[in-house]
Amino acid sequence: MSDIIQLLPDHVANQIAAGEVVQRPASVVKELLENSIDAGAENIALIVKDAGKTLVQVTDDGLGMSTTDARLSFERHATSKIKSADDLFNLHTKGFRGEALASIAAIAHVTLKTRTENTEIGTEICIEGSTITSQEAAVVPKGTTISVKNLFYNIPARRNFLKSNPVETRHIIDEFHRVALAHPQVAFQMVHNGSDVFNLPSSNTRQRIVNIFGGKTNEKLVPVSEETEIVKVNGFVLKPEYARKSRGEQFFFVNHRFVKSSYLHHAVHSAFEGLIRDGLHPGYFLYLEVNPQSIDINIHPTKTEIKFDDEHAIYAMLRATVKHSLGQFSIAPVLDFNKESGFETPYEYSKKSPQAPTIEVDRDFNPFSAPSHSPVPSGFKKRQETTQWQSLYVGMVDELDSPASSSIELESDEVTGSLFHSERETKSHATFQLQNKYIISPIKSGLMVIHQHFAHQRVLYEELLKNMTLQEAVSQQLLFPLVLTFSAPEISLLEKIREQLEHTGFVFSQFREDTLQISGIPVSMIESQAEKVLEQLVDDLRNEVPDAGFSQNDLLAQSLAKSMAVKTGTPLNQQEQEHLVHQLFACKEPSVSPSNRPVLVTMNAADFDKKFM
Ligand code: ADP
Ligand code: MG
Repeated sequence: MSDIIQLLPDHVANQIAAGEVVQRPASVVKELLENSIDAGAENIALIVKDAGKTLVQVTDDGLGMSTTDARLSFERHATSKIKSADDLFNLHTKGFRGEALASIAAIAHVTLKTRTENTEIGTEICIEGSTITSQEAAVVPKGTTISVKNLFYNIPARRNFLKSNPVETRHIIDEFHRVALAHPQVAFQMVHNGSDVFNLPSSNTRQRIVNIFGGKTNEKLVPVSEETEIVKVNGFVLKPEYARKSRGEQFFFVNHRFVKSSYLHHAVHSAFEGLIRDGLHPGYFLYLEVNPQSIDINIHPTKTEIKFDDEHAIYAMLRATVKHSLGQFSIAPVLDFNKESGFETPYEYSKKSPQAPTIEVDRDFNPFSAPSHSPVPSGFKKRQETTQWQSLYVGMVDELDSPASSSIELESDEVTGSLFHSERETKSHATFQLQNKYIISPIKSGLMVIHQHFAHQRVLYEELLKNMTLQEAVSQQLLFPLVLTFSAPEISLLEKIREQLEHTGFVFSQFREDTLQISGIPVSMIESQAEKVLEQLVDDLRNEVPDAGFSQNDLLAQSLAKSMAVKTGTPLNQQEQEHLVHQLFACKEPSVSPSNRPVLVTMNAADFDKKFM
C-alpha cells in the first residue's frame, strides 16, 4: 500500500485552528482588543457592523508594527510575546499563542494598517483566507487598525451557525465589558452600526464600573481590598440587597485578565451566606493579582479558565476578605480587625492543617435565669484566652477546610496560642450594660455597642438551625406537662411541623383537636415562654410569604429565636453580658440579626478625639 499521510496545507491548518480560537464575532473582538492592550494602547476604538458579522474593526494608538512584523503577525505561532516555553510561566501579556491573527485571517477578509512611532510611513496589508492580496506603504497614524470583514465567508456552515444579531451583539458587549473592566486606565469606545454604544474615558475602577453599568451602580458598590503574600485582592462586591435572580455582574480578573472560575465564585458566594436568599446571585468585580508563576492560563485556547497553585489559600482569603468588607461597609459598621495579627495570620493558618470548626454553644446559659445561678460553662475559661475576633476567623478558616464537617468542638489551646500570640495578653474585656438594652465593650480601636436582643437572636437562631440540621437537640423535661390551647387550624399547622419542632428540643406528648400537651422544651427556653413562642410561630407561619425563598427550618428558627431572645429592658449581670458576647462571636454571622438588622456598631477612639477638640 502506498503512503497516505500528507501534511495539511497551511491555509487548511489555519482554518482548523481558527475553529478553536474564533467561535463567533465576539471572539474576534476579544482577540483584537487584547492585542491592542498588549501593544500598550491608551485609546482603543471598536467599530462593529451587523453584530460583527459584516465588520469588526479595532483601532489603537499602541506600539504599532514594522513592515516585517506586520507581515509576520499573520503567520501561525508568530508572536512577539514569548520566546521560549519558560516565558509561559511568567506571562504579563494577554496573548502568547501567536494564533489569533493567523486564525482570523484564515476565515475572513482582513485589512491591517499599522505604523510604529519611529517610522513615518506605515504599512497596509490585505489578506483573505490566509492569502496576502496586497501590501503597500501607507500614511497612517501611529498605532494599529485591524478590520475583519465577512467573518466565516469561506465556511458557510459556521456562518449559518451564528445566532441572531441581538445574541451575537450581546456576546460582543460581554467581551468588551471584560476587557474594559480589566483596564480602566485605557479609554475605550464602541460604535455599533454607526451609533455610540460606549464611550469610556480613562478612569479608576469604580468609575469604569459606573460608566459601564450606569450611575446607580455607584451606591451599590462595597469596596474589597486585601493583600497577603500570595495574592492581592481589590475591587467591589454589590451590596447583598442588590443580589439578583439571574447571574448578573460577576467578574473575576486575575492579573488583569478576565477569568471564569466556579471555585472562586463559590468562595464569594459563600461569603454572602446568610445575607442573601437562596437562589439569588451576588454581583462582584474582583481583581486578583498573583505571581504569574503561580498560575496556569494555558489550559484553554480562549484562555478564560485558570489554574492556581494555591487554590485553597486563595479561596479562604477571598471568602474572608469579602465577608469582612460586607461586615465593614454595608451590613453592619463593624469589626475592627487588627491587621497584622488578627487578619493575616489565619491565611497562614490555612496552609497548615487546621482543626475542626470551633463554635461553642453553651446549652446551659439562660439569660432569664437568676443572675447568681448562671452556671459558668466548662469551656468558658479556655475561650477567655482568645479574643472574640479570632474565634470568628478561626471558625471561617476551619470551615473551609472541612466544609462537610458538622462536628463542633472546642479549639485546642495550643493552636490558638501559637497563632495569636500577640493577642493573648488581651484579657477578656469588661462589659457594661446601657439602659438595659445595649452591651458596651471596649475594643482595640475604641468601643463596641451590641444590641442585646438582636445579639441573642443571632445566637439562638444559629443554635436552633444547627440543632434542626443535625437533629441532636437536647430538651429539658418539664416537671408538669404544659397544656396549651389553640384553634383546630392552628393545631394542624403545628402538627405539620412537629418533627422540626422536636428537633429543636420540644417534646409533644399529645396533639388533640384544640389542645396540645408539651412535656419537654428546648434547653435555651424557659417554661413560661413556651406558649408565647408557639403562638408567635403560628402567626409567623401563617404570614409566611409562600415561596419567599426561605426554608421552613429557617423560618422556624427565625421565629423561635425572635420570641426566645432576651428582650430589650432586661437587666443582665456581668457574667451574662460577657457570656452573650462570647456566644455572639462564636456565631458564623455575628454582625447581623437573623432578620438582617445590625447587631453591633463600633466607634473609633478617633471619633471621640474629635469631640474633645
Ligand atoms: P499573540 O497575541 O498571541 O502574540 P496574535 O496572533 O494575536 O498572537 O498576534 C501576533 C503578533 O502580532 C503579536 O505578538 C504582536 O506582536 C502583533 N500584534 C497583533 N496585534 C497588534 C497590535 N494591535 N499592535 C501591535 N502589534 C500587534
Ligand atoms: Mg493576540
